Amino acid sequence: MKYEKCEKCGAHLDHGERCDCDKEKEYRAEAEHTKKDDNK
Ligand SMILES: [Zn+2]
Repeated sequence: MKYEKCEKCGAHLDHGERCDCDKEKEYRAEAEHTKKDDNK
């Protein structure tokens, strides 16, 4: 089996799985986007 490694924190991820640190980044970006949209 092949493991992918997070380049940021070095965690072992399953194939196609995203690390939590990557998820947080996306969540942050989305939250900011929503914030802007909510600030009409
Ligand atoms: Zn990571």
